[in-house]
Amino acid sequence: MTGQVFIGGAWRAPSSGSTIPVIDPATGETFTEIADGQAADIDAAVHAARRALNGAWGTTTALERGRALTRLSQKVLDNFEELTGLESRDCGKTLAVAGNDIRMLARYFEFYGGAADKVHGETIPYLHNHVVSIVRQPYGVSGHIIPWNYPTQILGRSVGAALAMGNASVIKPSEDACLSILRLAELTVEAGFPDGAFNVVPGYGATAGAALIAHPDVNFVSFTGSPEVGTLVQQETARHHVKCVLELGGKSPQIVFSDARLERAIPAIVNGIVQNAGQTCSAGSRLLVQREIYDEVVERVADRFRSLRTGPQSMDPDCGPVINQKQYQRIRSFIEDAVGSGARIAGQGALAPDLPPGGFYIPPTLFADLPRDHELAQREIFGPVLAAMPFSDEADAIALANDTEYGLVAGIWTENGGRQQRLARAIDSGQVFINCYGAGGGVELPFGGFGRSGHGREKGFVALEEMSISKTIVQNIEA
Ligand code: NAD
Repeated sequence: MTGQVFIGGAWRAPSSGSTIPVIDPATGETFTEIADGQAADIDAAVHAARRALNGAWGTTTALERGRALTRLSQKVLDNFEELTGLESRDCGKTLAVAGNDIRMLARYFEFYGGAADKVHGETIPYLHNHVVSIVRQPYGVSGHIIPWNYPTQILGRSVGAALAMGNASVIKPSEDACLSILRLAELTVEAGFPDGAFNVVPGYGATAGAALIAHPDVNFVSFTGSPEVGTLVQQETARHHVKCVLELGGKSPQIVFSDARLERAIPAIVNGIVQNAGQTCSAGSRLLVQREIYDEVVERVADRFRSLRTGPQSMDPDCGPVINQKQYQRIRSFIEDAVGSGARIAGQGALAPDLPPGGFYIPPTLFADLPRDHELAQREIFGPVLAAMPFSDEADAIALANDTEYGLVAGIWTENGGRQQRLARAIDSGQVFINCYGAGGGVELPFGGFGRSGHGREKGFVALEEMSISKTIVQNIEA
């Protein structure tokens, strides 16, 4: 499979004949290669998907689609160690995070496997002697553009739902993280998916990705990544009047009131930003604390940060390396610029001793007392960087929570029941957690953004609606 694309159930060389090096984030060294897929490969994959829809996959019943997904879920678990190792090396994830991702991948296929034959449509009372039924059918060829931060989980949630509804999928994984997805392609064959139901074309965004979103025979696109590319996806799919679901990241607040149970809040707040080295779209990257307890909370979180270690995956550290040189430099610039502008570091983790020289290591860093318009308070850093700010009362907390262009997830920490509900309603975000926080978690829980975080919903049952289209059938039954 090295350096190849997976189209119509088989491996083949990419049309370019060229490959992209795969770099271990722990060392900066190349250890394998993937295909440099081009527009011609995307075109071949879309044709293979269409053939599957016109053939075996198009006539596969919902029950059998569900069974195929359930078998795939089991195949993932059967190959857990191998997939975890691949994901950890490819993405720089600690083994704990990579292992959780693989378990979640299996869980998505289990969930959507079980759901495939539970979508039953509706009937509507209408005119005398008429029968109206609403059926849901697949869009057809679904395109999936996957980022590098959680390749397997994001594939599981979007492709799992798309296949459950009978779409045939063309997947363009990230050029920075695709090895586990390529291995998964082989497992789809073992799980009995017909040729062309699941196709993978690795490659760069500007070539393979751009070709997928512009392809006239793609009927639906799911994209997770940056807001800038999200805009391009929306523009390109609009040319063919094709629907897209966009999941574009966030600047999610953790809002701590003076009555919060801090022993419960603080570990969740730290984990919510440090998990996966902060490369989580729903990371809780803003810490908003009521003024009365602000100093205490900042100091307790800072204390935890000081105990954290960043190191290579093999050390099982608190925080692994970030994905690549570009992200490493980007995050470092944010930290250096903030320090240069006078921002205060309240607590910082340490780098493990004897790190491999070429790796991409960032210590978890807590900034305190930031002005509300500071770029660390407004922009998605996508690294283990937390920005703390005080608020005065409930109204101020809501204003501050909503004071970014994003709206993906929020955490509310208070024992006051009415306040919990008032904030949950007032905050612009797709998910709200009360006295808990689930960055990225919850296969069953609808997920998606407001504003710059994107639109459409994935996960849970709602994804089955997103990835299918309704048809209204009206029948005159008069004798
Ligand atoms: P990106 O948006 O460039 O890449 C995401 C995916 O889109 C990749 O598969 C990429 O190949 C593809 N892509 C890139 N250009 C494309 C194009 N013109 N047409 C079609 N597909 C294209 O993100 P990135 O450069 O990997 O990361 C940049 C920033 O994006 C990060 O710092 C972070 O803020 C954000 N990000 C968010 C998420 C998320 O989960 N929401 C994931 C990854 C990155």
